Amino acid sequence: MKGQKARDAAPLTNYRMNFSMHKLILKPGREKSLKRRHPWVFSGGIAKVESEPQLGDTVEVRSADGAFLAVAAYSPESQIRARVWAWNAGDIDAAFFMRRVATAAAARQGIAGESLRLVHGESDGLPGVVADRYGDTVVVQLLSAGAERWRGAIADALAVLPGVVRVIERSDADVRALEGLPPQNGLLRGEAAGVPLTVREHGLEFVVDAEQGHKTGFYLDQRDNRLLLRGLSKDKTVLDCFCYCGGFALNALAGSAKSVTAIDSSGPALAAARANAARNGLPEAEWLEADVFQTLRRFRDAGRSFNLIVLDPPKFAPTAAHAEKAARAYKDINLLGFKLLRPGGALMTYSCSGGVSADLFQKIVAGAALDAGVDARIERWLHASADHPVALNFPEGEYLKGLLLRVST
Ligand code: SAH
Repeated sequence: MKGQKARDAAPLTNYRMNFSMHKLILKPGREKSLKRRHPWVFSGGIAKVESEPQLGDTVEVRSADGAFLAVAAYSPESQIRARVWAWNAGDIDAAFFMRRVATAAAARQGIAGESLRLVHGESDGLPGVVADRYGDTVVVQLLSAGAERWRGAIADALAVLPGVVRVIERSDADVRALEGLPPQNGLLRGEAAGVPLTVREHGLEFVVDAEQGHKTGFYLDQRDNRLLLRGLSKDKTVLDCFCYCGGFALNALAGSAKSVTAIDSSGPALAAARANAARNGLPEAEWLEADVFQTLRRFRDAGRSFNLIVLDPPKFAPTAAHAEKAARAYKDINLLGFKLLRPGGALMTYSCSGGVSADLFQKIVAGAALDAGVDARIERWLHASADHPVALNFPEGEYLKGLLLRVST
């Protein structure tokens, strides 16, 4: 009787998983972060891998005493050896991706704009999956072994969202190499557009190169901050450092800036920025194809100054291991930025480095102000737009942090 009862009580899924699923058994004590629902299993925490899972296979994660913790995707080449798909036992299949993608899309329904991030990796319960929507086109990045394994299911789930006519893959980010994955780009679902991709944001149009441009083509995370700059720009002299295809610069022009100077080291990005400004009928700007570090020094030596300066550099520290070198680079550009500000001017400064916390970034910027000999106050703490949520159990999701600072008159 007793045995009968126990067998009946065991859910069918558990029964099946016990016999068919690959398992990762953790070292004693290494279950703690998973119990807090942090979705990464590091290689150093694993005691045993049972039944030879392959790249991207679904594995069951168990603590040293055998307790079930999660279902995860196996990344044999990465330090992050597994990424959690789900905290309860259940099948990881096409229906799972349909549900997760639909949930992520539904969560964005209250956010205005036709260009949005639809899926933001771990924070949407889909580690390694990033999907941006530009009108009827979705550009997806598959950045982990698990995401790679489920390419077809993820593409299908994105393609069936209302209004989506094509899904393009841009899986060429450096992080794929850490997973042992080659770059992969191309059309996944639907037909090629035949015309360049256009991003509409706050009434401005940007032509974006979805095949060659950075990330998925555009930096949607700065959407709200670009509008903030527009509101500050009237009659101001504005300097946009690391301007890419003109995101901030065009908003300064749209906000009736007195003058706009924009710098980027990429020729194609600057050509796109110029074309985007013309397309929107905006006034001329000074577009400089140059290194920001050198140009700011040149401006300082020439005695140039501005009312408003934006510093939106690339990721100097992809991980905490690069934090020290990155800190020097952030300090350098912020120090120069402070020196180029006119009295009463404002600095909008960002870090998109996962390896530099908001707290550390604020300390670096404070050190830069001190060395520049300026007195500055924080007017706002700046973040990515709401379509880039940060799961409470995944602080790494808060990669973009910024400060709006004003110096004394
Ligand atoms: N502010 C932009 C995004 C910036 S992305 C937006 O709102 O869309 C970072 C940019 O920095 C890229 O365009 C890259 O080409 C540029 N970049 C990287 N290193 C640079 C350097 N040392 N000097 C100038 N530009 C640089």
